[in-house]
Amino acid sequence: MSRYTGPNCRQCRREGAKLFLKGERCNLEKCAFERRSYAPGQHGQGMRRKQSEYSVQLRAKQKMARIYGIREGQFRKYYKESTRVAGVSGENLLRLLEGRLDNVVFRLGMAPSRKAARQLVRHNHFTVNGKRVNVPSYLTSPGDVVSVGEGSRKLEVIQESMRRSRELVAWLTVDKANLVGTVAERPNRGDIPTPVEEQLVIEFYSRV
Ligand code: SF4
Repeated sequence: MSRYTGPNCRQCRREGAKLFLKGERCNLEKCAFERRSYAPGQHGQGMRRKQSEYSVQLRAKQKMARIYGIREGQFRKYYKESTRVAGVSGENLLRLLEGRLDNVVFRLGMAPSRKAARQLVRHNHFTVNGKRVNVPSYLTSPGDVVSVGEGSRKLEVIQESMRRSRELVAWLTVDKANLVGTVAERPNRGDIPTPVEEQLVIEFYSRV
């Protein structure tokens, strides 16, 4: 599956939930899902047929991939890794996605959305433990310190995002004044506020 380049809001309507793909706009009345919470397309408002088990699992997988902005090939690699290590596979999968640098930057409030975070990371605006990292999928570990690079501190998109208050997850700490965040620990499922059913995603991949 190549990267989706269509309208972001259409993805929310397709999944029947707000996926928060557009930053601040998602919290405003302008949010397309608030105005049209039915599926897109000609039959979007029609009667919904009973979904098969497969289609429920597929939708759960698509929803998770869309929230984190992951392509199919990469997503499958995360699945394989999540089943290889000890623990509950679904939680392992979520932990892997949460540990990505683009997600950490977003969770720290340094970017308005994961998509924006991905672009900022690619453009060399962040360091991890003092070294420039421009790979959005870079997997952070407990103890890692993520900072805005010296020359990027005045970037309006970062400053504006930091000004907006966003609830910080328990496994991260942030020093807003110095634009520095720390991964304090590995996240537990209860500390990951992503509305997904990860077990359905594992079930989806284990059957295909
Ligand atoms: Fe989804 Fe609403 Fe954000 Fe559009 S504005 S991406 S519909 S949450």
